[in-house]
Amino acid sequence: MDDWLRLVKESLTTADDLSLHFPGVDTGEAKQVIGKYPMRINSYFMDVIRNSDSPAIYRQAVPDIAELRDTVCMEDPLSEEQQSPVPNLTHRYPDRCLFLVSSQCAMYCRFCTRKRKVGDPQMISADTIKAGIEYIKNHSEIRDVILSGGDPLMLADEVLEDIVGNVRKIPHVEIIRIGTRVPCALPMRVTQRLCRMLKKHHPIFINVHFNHPDELTPEAREACGRLVDSGFPVNNQSVLLRGVNDSPEILTKLFQQLLACRVRPYYLYQADVTKGTNHFRTPMERGLDIIRGLRGYTSGLAVPHFVIDAPQGGGKIPLLPKYVTRRTNKEIIMRNYKGEIYRYPEVQHEELDVKVVENTEVLK
Ligand code: SF4
Repeated sequence: MDDWLRLVKESLTTADDLSLHFPGVDTGEAKQVIGKYPMRINSYFMDVIRNSDSPAIYRQAVPDIAELRDTVCMEDPLSEEQQSPVPNLTHRYPDRCLFLVSSQCAMYCRFCTRKRKVGDPQMISADTIKAGIEYIKNHSEIRDVILSGGDPLMLADEVLEDIVGNVRKIPHVEIIRIGTRVPCALPMRVTQRLCRMLKKHHPIFINVHFNHPDELTPEAREACGRLVDSGFPVNNQSVLLRGVNDSPEILTKLFQQLLACRVRPYYLYQADVTKGTNHFRTPMERGLDIIRGLRGYTSGLAVPHFVIDAPQGGGKIPLLPKYVTRRTNKEIIMRNYKGEIYRYPEVQHEELDVKVVENTEVLK
């Protein structure tokens, strides 16, 4: 049996398992939470928790009774089900779709947007995968397919190859993206064999998911390196989480270290309004403060897009600190990253007209 599969099989999944390793845990409460939202913590991630000085890693993996006390959030905040023409495929944007191909994850993150679905083996079947591929085949406007779940890299190589190969055969699909937390939660799953198999189906982009610098262990860095060396552009998506990473210091360190691993910080998500995760949500202003603390102070490559995935399926909306303080016909008044004021003279329409005429003459 592959090493990674053994780690998955030996993961902690029950409240009793948990109490053996974390004596402080209330077993009764943990049982109630796990009864509704599954838990999986493998021994690799147990070590990440133990080796971190921060409670951030523990909080992402270990159930909290607050998950059952959430009276604010929604089961399906992004209305994925309403925008699913076939089960497990969301077609929200014109030229791309989200295709869920696995219900399993290397660990079940307590803040997960798909808490309602992950870990449920009934969620995905050979039939739903077939129906998804048919749908993509019949919609020539889809040029970008995002494979997600759960985690697609939890599938056996052969199963994943079958799905990726079938999507790749569709002539109008230009790029395939795979969303995965495996490089963070189970990096030994990113084997050379997996990389060799996937690279046959380029162009494939990999979106990884790291939330805290302590997750960037030597094993995780090597897994990212194997992906980049195999030619996959690797981008990171983080979620802003209260008590986990809601500080400029933590996220600056994370984003800088990701870049050093050749992973581009792509999105920082405001936490979704997902049932069972209200205790992780932060005020929007906190995220803007973090972006303000990054922009100008570190290289632009390390600054992700800060976005809210709008409830009711509105899609991603970028959130930006306000740098333009005033705009007139004559000038734009702006603050730089230090808060200093600068003025940029606006282009006057007469000048524009002259330029157009000049260009036309040159072209003649
Ligand atoms: S790995 Fe992703 S899909 Fe799975 S539980 Fe974590 S956030 Fe959710």
